[in-house]
Amino acid sequence: MAAAPPERSPLEVVQLPALSSNYIYLLRSGGSTAVVDPGDAGVVAAELQRRGWRLDAALITHHHADHTFGLGALKEEFPDLEVVGPRADAARIPLVATALGEGDEWSLGGVRFRTLEVPGHTRGHVAFWCPEARALFPGDTLFGLGCGMLFEGDAQTMWRSLCKLAALPPETLVYCAHEYTASNAAFAVGVNPSNEALAARKARVDAARAEGEPTVPSLLSEELETNPFLRAGADPELRAAAGVGGGAPDWAVLGGLRARKEGVRGRLVRTVLYPLVERLPAGVARMLA
Ligand SMILES: [Zn+2]
Repeated sequence: MAAAPPERSPLEVVQLPALSSNYIYLLRSGGSTAVVDPGDAGVVAAELQRRGWRLDAALITHHHADHTFGLGALKEEFPDLEVVGPRADAARIPLVATALGEGDEWSLGGVRFRTLEVPGHTRGHVAFWCPEARALFPGDTLFGLGCGMLFEGDAQTMWRSLCKLAALPPETLVYCAHEYTASNAAFAVGVNPSNEALAARKARVDAARAEGEPTVPSLLSEELETNPFLRAGADPELRAAAGVGGGAPDWAVLGGLRARKEGVRGRLVRTVLYPLVERLPAGVARMLA
């Protein structure tokens, strides 16, 4: 079900399921190794040991604990570890030594990554894009058939971020940070029942998950065809489902869809629980996450 990477990619990507729904990625190029969003050090260390790899760098998309919690232990095991993260949020991410912003490049074993600032889920969220491997690591901004919750940004901000990702080459592989595609698919067909490509994708996703197979990475081209949050501006059916009139801007459609998807429980998490946890000292917040 997951899309296949190019046969002779300059970047090897190893996908590691972690925590309840996360994916952590090990990246290997030119004898160097990086990890993306290590929420769990144990999973990463075990795979490194199995492969006989040393860890050189950690790429962090945003400050949430399920993306950063393993950093401390990995830095202890690999004292030279270069922690790369968003400049806008460097103060909230422990150990960031290389802080990157929009358009900044970084390389692993000669393979270049470009930083895209994609706020919305959090204020300082970035995505890492590797054109040579046609790989995108969007963290919690873009998911299979979904997008991240608007914890620290409004719909307009998230829409601008999603449009930036939508403009990348359609053959880009989307290595998102959570296996949420099946539940996102259930929501998506409810708001976009006439989308045949979406219905067909939902059937493939459900079949893959029934076998315990990942649905990540996906191709950006299939997200552009089926993901209601990327298509918020394009489809009158989505506009109606979002409860937004014909004259409203596209970002308002995204806002309406997000509000409908999160429901009462999600709204409580976003507006009550999340601000409480964010106000706690970082160490305590990480233990609770
Ligand atoms: Zn997050």
